[in-house]
Amino acid sequence: MKKSDFDLFVIGGGSGGVRAARMAAQRGARVALAEVADLGGTCVNVGCIPKKLYSYAAHYGEGFAESAGFGWEIKPPVFNWNRLKANRAREIGRLNGVYQQLLEGAGVTLLRGWARVTGAHGVRVDDQDFSAEHILVATGGTPFVPDVPGREHVVTSDQMFDLEPFPSRLVVVGGGYIACEAASIFNGLGAEVTLVQRGARLLNGFDDDISTFVASEMGKAGVDVRLNAGVANIAARRSKTSPLLVTLSGGAQIKADAVLYATGRKPNTQGFGLEEAGVKLDERGMVVVDKDFRSSVRSIHALGDVSTHKALTPVALAEGMVLVDRLFGPAKGKRERQMDYDFIPTAVFTHPNVGTVGFTEAQARERFGKVTIYRSEFRALRHTLSDSTERTLMKLIVDDATDRVVGLHMVGDEAGEIVQGFAVALKAGATKATFDATIGIHPTAAEEFVTMREPSRD
Ligand code: NDP
Repeated sequence: MKKSDFDLFVIGGGSGGVRAARMAAQRGARVALAEVADLGGTCVNVGCIPKKLYSYAAHYGEGFAESAGFGWEIKPPVFNWNRLKANRAREIGRLNGVYQQLLEGAGVTLLRGWARVTGAHGVRVDDQDFSAEHILVATGGTPFVPDVPGREHVVTSDQMFDLEPFPSRLVVVGGGYIACEAASIFNGLGAEVTLVQRGARLLNGFDDDISTFVASEMGKAGVDVRLNAGVANIAARRSKTSPLLVTLSGGAQIKADAVLYATGRKPNTQGFGLEEAGVKLDERGMVVVDKDFRSSVRSIHALGDVSTHKALTPVALAEGMVLVDRLFGPAKGKRERQMDYDFIPTAVFTHPNVGTVGFTEAQARERFGKVTIYRSEFRALRHTLSDSTERTLMKLIVDDATDRVVGLHMVGDEAGEIVQGFAVALKAGATKATFDATIGIHPTAAEEFVTMREPSRD
């Protein structure tokens, strides 16, 4: 029998695809990876990394303003959008190169072209056919824009990092991760931002207190948050300044330089032969996989944003490593990894940040019945002199039956950094008694998580 060209053929050079390809090659597998665009996928090119760089840029704006209370006297700073864009592009270009080196260094055959699945074991890249024992679909997702009149005038997160000129007036539609982060960032960079969310709250799926609190903090920071609001249409105006006019369902009108739709993402599963090869997709177009990331075609696997799990880079990375263990055995001296979707921490890089791990209060009440809530809201030490009215919220949810801390949520400075450490504790099953026995680091905001003694309500 003729041996396949490759043991593993990865379609998509984003976080999950690159990690799986690299790990498999390091395990001795013959691996190919096809990617038509820049390596690194959404996260590196138009997601996490540029977003975080721009978030830092926006924080400087607040920092300059707040420094006066600490004795600094500075001339009003001037923001240079073009310099930020150019520096970001240079850094992303460097990362694209790092990804390429990592793949090539591991011995992965890199194919720069459009891949198409031609069967259970076949892939065509441009006009070249390859066979593979296993195919991994890691093609990620793409922004979804609903069918609104004037849709042709809007941009998505794929374009927002390169807007030209800087959008002095920005309308952001949506209330999820991307909408909230973009609203905070552009507000911090000096734009006048209106956020239009169809529902009654931001960040659906997060704890209610967190959603309410972050909406209020974003509002205080200057974002005009419009809840229960919809866009009726977007029209072009004959004007050099703010050339767009957004009309909301209630009739209100907002002039804008740019309209950013952040209304969710859809998986990239069309146009490259998946369904023709027998791969089952769900109603959202995502590849249906079992716990081993196998699709309805046993040799075709899928992970990351294209499959039915959480759309987060670290989840795709973990899935990639678990899949490689399954297909090619664990690394020498290591046990086979298992994927566990419980207690996945996440952060939203709004200003201030949201950080969260575990169950929301509503989920915990449903799952555990009796829970105790600890809640602390305060002004961080830094803001006693900064003149900022920003406040911090921290919340713990404890399962009464076991005393285990099952939810930990925060809105405040560096919430992402703080919650990462506590996520280890929650994952390890830490109880409230362990939190209470932990000595705080003083003076920090994080110490509040180990000093909350009085339940806020039953
Ligand atoms: P989300 O699913 O988080 O949010 C989509 C938002 O758009 C929701 O507020 C939703 O409203 C709204 N919406 C959906 N459809 C429509 C419509 N037809 N008209 C008007 N509004 C609509 O998606 P994002 O695009 O923000 O992010 C995608 C995913 O990417 C996230 O879920 C997350 O997993 C990941 N991500 C992670 C980040 C991080 O880790 N920091 C950063 C960015 C993205 P409603 O709330 O009412 O449903």
